[in-house]
Amino acid sequence: MEVLFSEEQIAKRVRELGKEISADYQGKTVHFICVLKGAYTFLADLARAMEVPVTLDFLAVSSYGKGKTSSGEVQLTKDLDVSIAGRDVIVVEDIADTGLTLNYLLNMLRSREPATLKVAAFLSKPSRREIDVAVDYIGFEVPDRFVVGYGLDDNQRFRELPYIAVQD
Ligand code: 5GP
Repeated sequence: MEVLFSEEQIAKRVRELGKEISADYQGKTVHFICVLKGAYTFLADLARAMEVPVTLDFLAVSSYGKGKTSSGEVQLTKDLDVSIAGRDVIVVEDIADTGLTLNYLLNMLRSREPATLKVAAFLSKPSRREIDVAVDYIGFEVPDRFVVGYGLDDNQRFRELPYIAVQD
C-alpha cells in the first residue's frame, strides 16, 4: 500500500491542530464527541495535544451505502452518555467525504442546544463533497482515493496502521 501520510507527519500535524484548537478555546473546556469507530485514534492523539481542559463522549453511526460510498442514510447506533446542552462541543470525525454523515450529525446535535458546535475532521476529501458542511479544523486534505489506517478501515481491517495509506 502506498503511504500518504507517515506516522511522523501525522504526529506533527495533530500537535499543530491541538495548539490551534486550544488557542480558540482559551478559558473554556472543550467537549469532544468522537464518532466511532473511525475517529478513535485521532481523538486519542488530539485530546493529548490539547492545552485546555477536555471532556469526552462517544457516539456511533452506521451509514448505509453501496460498497465504499455512503448513501447519506445514517443511523445512530450508540448515543451520547451525557447531555451537551450549554457545552462547547467539537465533533471529532475521521474523514469528511460527501459530508452527508456530518450534516446528519450536526443537525441532530444542534437541536440539543450546545453553547457552540464545531467539527474537527482528521481528513477531508473536498472533491467529493455533496453537502456544504462546515469543517472547522482539518488535519489533511486527500484526493479522491480510498484511504485506510490511523483508525480508518476497509471492512474492519487496517485500523491499527499508524500511518494513512491508499488502498485502491
Ligand atoms: P460521508 O458521509 O462524508 O460521505 O462519509 C463519511 C464516512 O465514510 C467516514 O466517516 C468514513 O467512515 C467513510 N469514508 C469515507 N471515505 C473514506 C475513505 O477513504 N476511507 C475509509 N476507510 N472510510 C471512508
